Amino acid sequence: FDDRDGMIWWDGELRPWRDAKLHVLTHGLHYASAVFEGERSYGGNIFRLRDHTNRLIQSGKLLGFDIPFSADAIDAACNEVLKANGLTDAYIRPIAWRGSEMLAVSAQQTKIHLAIAAWPWPNLFGNDRMKGITLGMAPWRRPDPRTAPTASKAAGLYMIGTLSKHAAEAEGFNDALMLTLDGHVAEATGANIFFAIDGELHTPTPDCFLDGITRRTVMALARARQIPVHERHIKPEEMAKASEVFLAGTAAEVTPVRQIGELTFTPGKITETLIADYTALVHMSPEEVAKRAA
Ligand code: PMP
Repeated sequence: FDDRDGMIWWDGELRPWRDAKLHVLTHGLHYASAVFEGERSYGGNIFRLRDHTNRLIQSGKLLGFDIPFSADAIDAACNEVLKANGLTDAYIRPIAWRGSEMLAVSAQQTKIHLAIAAWPWPNLFGNDRMKGITLGMAPWRRPDPRTAPTASKAAGLYMIGTLSKHAAEAEGFNDALMLTLDGHVAEATGANIFFAIDGELHTPTPDCFLDGITRRTVMALARARQIPVHERHIKPEEMAKASEVFLAGTAAEVTPVRQIGELTFTPGKITETLIADYTALVHMSPEEVAKRAA
């Protein structure tokens, strides 16, 4: 993935992809002092760019640092990366981290760096995702919000994601469903989850995981269709009552789920409607998207 053509934006300038290398004594690598974003552009427009940029800045603040670029500069840099790589439909990955100026748990003297890459990534679950993906139960639970800055899109919080996803893949599932520390349904390793029960949507309260931008978009789209949406604590045993299940996330978009552990589901009308509405929305101009969000 590192040895390829292309340009990566790094602290204000574009560098060749294969030369965008860090020192091995980078604080972000040793102590996970790194936060990132995942964005998508459709037809050259980055969907909800300012929301992602604001979350990136806020994620840094939750880890105790200020990213040394304004929101306007970060937005412009994301667009610059797309152009520099000749991309219109792509995944965009900004990442901010503490540098290698010093290495210790206390790292007040480190500089905060920002890099942004972009590459084509059609969908997290590939082309045949429409038949529905499968989820295994994760061996790891989400940390309690008193044990980690769970509202931050922080690199360190993905450690249990990778462990959980690898465990699920080893059992033949596509992804893992993580529970909260107290045993409620939380989220998949890179996307939020929704259940359709008796024609209404239910989604876990995001109190120890990301309140995803896609999640909020899907909730608004459902309400615009007069589909009631309930944010609440959901027990794993309630999942058997669901007629439809889907994931929502920038990389996953809206992806139907056909199996969770032993339970099976059939993607239906609600999922299909929201996939169509989400697909239409992401292809609108930023002005149009903002108007609909208002
Ligand atoms: N949860 C996790 C763990 C994620 O990585 C993501 C993707 N950023 C989400 C939820 C969904 O967030 P969003 O819709 O803002 O992409």
